[in-house]
Amino acid sequence: MSHALLDYCLAREDWLLRFTETLVQIESPSDDKAAVDRCADEVARELAHLGGRITRIGATTAGDHVRAEFGAGNRQVLLLGHIDTVWPIGQLARMPLRREGDRLYGPGVFDMKAGLAIATLAVRAWAAGEVARSHKLVMLWTTDEEVGSLTSRAVIETEAGRSEAVLVFEPALPGGGLKTRRKGCGQYELSVTGRAAHAGVDPEKGVSAIGELARQILAIETLRDLEAGVSVNVGLVSGGSRPNVVADQARAVIDVRAPTQQMAERVDAALRRLTPHIRGAGVVVSGGFARPPMERTAGTTRLFDLASQVAGDLGVSLTEGATGGGSDGNFCAALGVPTLDGLGATGDGAHAVHEHVVVSSLAQRAGLVAGLLTRLTAA
Ligand SMILES: [Zn+2]
Repeated sequence: MSHALLDYCLAREDWLLRFTETLVQIESPSDDKAAVDRCADEVARELAHLGGRITRIGATTAGDHVRAEFGAGNRQVLLLGHIDTVWPIGQLARMPLRREGDRLYGPGVFDMKAGLAIATLAVRAWAAGEVARSHKLVMLWTTDEEVGSLTSRAVIETEAGRSEAVLVFEPALPGGGLKTRRKGCGQYELSVTGRAAHAGVDPEKGVSAIGELARQILAIETLRDLEAGVSVNVGLVSGGSRPNVVADQARAVIDVRAPTQQMAERVDAALRRLTPHIRGAGVVVSGGFARPPMERTAGTTRLFDLASQVAGDLGVSLTEGATGGGSDGNFCAALGVPTLDGLGATGDGAHAVHEHVVVSSLAQRAGLVAGLLTRLTAA
C-alpha cells in the first residue's frame, strides 16, 4: 500500500516541480493583497481542477485564504500551510528561480511553496486510492502567516477544532525531521516616561526615561532562562530627543520565546509586574504572546509514531525535534489537537537569499504524507 502511494508520487515528480515553480513565480508578499491573491487564485484553480471543493475566505487586510475539501464524511484531517512569503515584489528578479543540481532556489520555495505542492500531490495520491474512508481531508492555505496570522487565526482554530489531526507543511528540520515542539512567541513593548529638563542648567529637575529604561533592561534580562529554553531579547531600543535634554521618553521592544505555556505565563506575569526604579518615572508594558507554545502532547506523540511507522514501511527513518520559531501549528496544538509540523520540504535558507529545497526529497515526502493520510482516514 505505502509503496504504491510512493510510486504514484515518484511518477509525478515533474508535476510536483512544475506546480512548485508556478507558485514561486507568482510572488506573494503578505502585505500586498493583490499579489498574494494572485497566488491564492492559482492554488484555488489547481485544487479545483483536482476535484477539491473550494471556499475562498475573504480578508480585507490580507489576501484571501483558500479552503479545499476532498472526500466525504463528518470526521476530518486538516492539511495546513501558508501562501504568503517574506519577500517583496521584485525579489524574484534578484534571486531568480533556478535549478542547480539537486537544489531548486527561489523566494518562498522552502517557506513554503514546495510544502504546499507536496501536500497537494499527497492528496492526489490519497484520492486515487480505492479504499473505504472514514474522514474527509480539508486543506487550508492562508495568506498572513508571516505577519502573525491576524486574519487567519480564527479560521485556523475553527478548522483545527473540527479535525482529529493537523498536518502542517512548513519546512522540515535539517535532514527531513518533523517538528513536534515549537516555542511560543511573544512580543512586548515597554514604554518609559520621565521628565524633560535642560541637561546643563537644571538637570536635577529632570527624570531620565533612558536611565529608567537601562535599569529595566537589566531586570528584564534576568527573566531569561536559556537552559529551560526561555529566551528574552530586548531587540530594539529608542528614546530621548537631544544630547542636552534629559529624556522624557524611551521605549524597548522585547521578543520572548518559551517552550511551555507555564513558562510563557511566568515571563508574561513578570513583565506586567515591572515598576519604576527611579522616582518620578513611569513604565507601561503592552503586548503578549501572539502564538502559544506548541507542546508535545500524548496525541502528537501518537501521530508521530504513526508517521514513523509509515516511513519505516518505506525504508526511511523519521526523526523529530523542536524549533524556536512559531507557525500556525502552534494555534492547533494549543487547542489540544494532535499536530505534526515540518512535513514540508527539506532544504535550507528560509527568509534568506540562499533559500532552496532539495529536489529529490520532494516526491518522497509526498509519498510519506500520502501513506500517513491513508492510515489516518482508514475506515
Ligand atoms: Zn512558513
